[in-house]
Amino acid sequence: MSIQKTFKSLHYFCLSSLLLLPLVTQAKVKDPCPDWGARVKSFPVAICQSANVQPSNGRTVRGRTIYFQDTGPVNSSSRVLVIGAIHGDEQSSASLAFHWLNYAQKNNLNTYWRFIPIVNPDSLMSKPSRRTNANGVDLNRNFPTPNWNDEAKKHWEIRTRKDPRRFPGNQSLSEPESQFIVQQINTFKPTLIVSIHAPYGVLDFDGPKAPPKKLGFLYLDQVGIFPGSLGNYSGVHRGIPVVTVELPNSLDIPPPLEITKMWTDLTAWMNQTFSETAKRP
Ligand SMILES: [Zn+2]
Repeated sequence: MSIQKTFKSLHYFCLSSLLLLPLVTQAKVKDPCPDWGARVKSFPVAICQSANVQPSNGRTVRGRTIYFQDTGPVNSSSRVLVIGAIHGDEQSSASLAFHWLNYAQKNNLNTYWRFIPIVNPDSLMSKPSRRTNANGVDLNRNFPTPNWNDEAKKHWEIRTRKDPRRFPGNQSLSEPESQFIVQQINTFKPTLIVSIHAPYGVLDFDGPKAPPKKLGFLYLDQVGIFPGSLGNYSGVHRGIPVVTVELPNSLDIPPPLEITKMWTDLTAWMNQTFSETAKRP
């Protein structure tokens, strides 16, 4: 190659590097909503996109990013953590979380909200989608409740007859997704956790406050506590109440009016239970 040609190549290389630089530094975070929309029935893609969820530091077993979004006044004494799709085959829970995130972004009701609509994206995106995470662990049995070592395996072996969908793991907090939720509890310091599931069509509650009697068409039915569940860990042992919403269908979301009614019932109950007036003797 002649000196001129070498110089010309170098010149083009430098020029193209300069042109590319702003593209690299201004690279936007990939929008995850279309992929979720392609996988999840009734997924509100436009609402997801307007919610502008952000990548957290949480990663799944397969290295997927766990997304979140905060909304509301950061100094509020009311801090609510809403999580969906901790069980990957409960797709409707992710969709409902986005609808409620949209409501919270329009009217935060003086609450600081953190939404993690899809805790278990590995199994939500797998075909078929799965309840457990990619290691075959039921994340909602993997939280470090006292006596987990004695109780969780025994419960799994005897009560569930070793149902693989309910395997609690070889030790508590063995999974990156359950570790991430505990990290969120420790750092976000929620005063209330709302965990969305399906398909039992009821409302469950664990913790020190008076539970809501109903959310929309879902009525309170406290089904008991399980070793390693989030309700047991957070509600019973850490004193942070957990409202567990069990939608009636894993794929279809409730009609729009019900989604709104559940939200207004939830926020009315929060107002009654956690307001300053409610705290006075
Ligand atoms: Zn579930």
